This record gives sequence, C-alpha cells and structure tokens, in this order.
Amino acid sequence: MSRALADIESKVRKVRDYRVCFHPEAPRGCSAQIIASHTVQRCGGGLSAIAQQNHVYGCLPNMIQLGRTGGFVELTRIGVHQASTFSGFCSTHDCRLFKPVETQIFSGSAEQVALLTFRSVARELWEKRVRIRSHPLMREALTKGGSDADGQRLFEAMADADELDLVCAEEIKHDLDSILVQQDWSALASIVFWTDRVPPILASALIYPEFDFEGRQLQDVYSDGRLEVIAVNAIASADRKGAIIFSWFKAESAPAQLIESLLSLSESVLPAAIFRFIVEHAENHYVAPEWWSSLASDRRDVVLQHLNSGIPPIRLHGSQWFSNPAQIDFGVGIDRVTMLTTA
Ligand SMILES: [Zn+2]
Repeated sequence: MSRALADIESKVRKVRDYRVCFHPEAPRGCSAQIIASHTVQRCGGGLSAIAQQNHVYGCLPNMIQLGRTGGFVELTRIGVHQASTFSGFCSTHDCRLFKPVETQIFSGSAEQVALLTFRSVARELWEKRVRIRSHPLMREALTKGGSDADGQRLFEAMADADELDLVCAEEIKHDLDSILVQQDWSALASIVFWTDRVPPILASALIYPEFDFEGRQLQDVYSDGRLEVIAVNAIASADRKGAIIFSWFKAESAPAQLIESLLSLSESVLPAAIFRFIVEHAENHYVAPEWWSSLASDRRDVVLQHLNSGIPPIRLHGSQWFSNPAQIDFGVGIDRVTMLTTA
C-alpha cells in the first residue's frame, strides 16, 4: 500500500514543479530562469532567524503522512531553503520587484506592505493552481490508502474550498497588479504589530477571514463569489525583533472588523491571539524549533489541534478557540502598533 502512495507522492511532486512569473508585466521583461522565490522576507534574517541547524518546522502534508495520520496534519522538519519558497517569479522580476523589501530594513512603509501583500497573494495563487492540478492524484491516494467515506467527504470539502479560493486569488492578484503598476498604495490598509523579539512563528499568507476574534461571522466563506481577504506576514527584523503585518483592501469590511475585534482584546492576550490566528489560518507558516522543543508535549498537542482546526469543513467557531487565550505562551510581547488606514 505504501508503495502505491509513494508513487502518487512522486507524481504530486511533479505537479508541484510548476513554474510561472507572476510579475504584473510578465511575460514582458521576463528572464529565462524561474527561481525559487522566498515568501518570508529575508532582509531581517528570514527563516534563518528562527532556524536550528538550518531547519524549521512547517506543514508539508504528504500522502504518506496523511495516510498514516488519517488526514491529520503534523509539523515536519524542513530545510530553510526548501521552506516557504515557490517558483512564482523569474529571476529578473523577483530581484527588481521585491528590492524595497529585500534590501531595505522593514519600516512599515506603504510600498513595503504592498509588496509583502502581493507576494502573499502570488504564493496563494501558485499554491491553489498547483493544488487543483493535484486533486485527481489526491483522490487516487485516498482510494488506494483505504480512506473511509468521512475522509473522502473531508477531502471533497477541501477540494471545493480550493476551487473557490482559486477564483478569488486570481481576482485579487489582478487588482494588486494594477496597484503595483500605478504605484498607488492608497487602496490598501495595514496594521503592524512590532514585536520585542523575533516571533517564534514566521509566515506569509492570504486568509479569507470567517469569524472575528469575538466569534461574530464576518462572511460566508463557502458561498460563491469574491471573498474578502486579509494578508498576514510575520517577519524577523535585523535588530533581533520582528513585525506582524496585516494588510487588506480598504474598501472591504470583513478584514477591518477582524482587526477592530483584535484590537479590542486586552494587551496581555494579543500575541497569543495573533499567533493562534496564524497557526489556524495561514498555511504558509514556519515554527522555530527552539520554541517548539520548549513546549510540553500536551501544549504541542494543543497547537496541532489549532493547526488542524483551520482546515475546512471543521473550522472552529472563533469564540470557541479563543475561550482560553493564555493556553500557549508564545514568548513574545508587542512593543508598539502602527496603522496605515487613511489615503
Ligand atoms: Zn518575469
């Protein structure tokens, strides 16, 4: 049985070798080489800032693991060069477009926020295109792996969500292309939480928020049509501190309400609320081995439960997961908060 799954796994790897340039002007000006673009900003150290022996932990679900765990996603040890990269830009465009975030310290400028947002969107678009192409292989793996009806239903719900997410990601990318071409950042809003040390979890992701931090529904994420969206980037900065950046389209109300509810929480639970939100909803996040190994095993189980609770259709209601915000110590404080919300 495992040989059949390993065979499908290698076919999935081929599907994931999808190379494209998502620069707004592509294919005009593209170089021949599509490179492995980093999604987590590297200027402040990138994933190396949290790595141990050049490795971090992340979600890299594979057929064999999912077959073994019955669909439960675990954290896997991943090399920093493999983690968080995707082949979504040619070398020329990657270097030129992301220069303001990759060669300058993050200051929270509107341009830097827009570029981090764009890269989160490009990564999401790449991931959804690839995943949809791998759905037939995943179905085959489930059948050959002897998955029960519940497992297959779960997969089909995830596959449907991928289809909806892809349509949204294509539209969002299109809107951001115009913003980048015109270099007019005024349509975007953002909030930056500056942390007093390097965050134990780094991320770059696009999230369609379903509930705010008080459990109120923000939008029906299973409906057809464009979903409202928020990008989150958690990065290390050069001074051994860090930043967590949320960004969204100013015209959208769901992300604004999400942030409003986050800011209504007491300061003492704010870091825990932010990191748990990232763990639950940001697929592309990476965990510091040092922090992970410092957690007692029952605390690690809680983190993994949160990680899996974000997977449709068993997403937990916002107020349920937030019922005990002090459960996990992320070891990070917030130094200050800055917002860019006005034109
Ligand atoms: Zn290009």
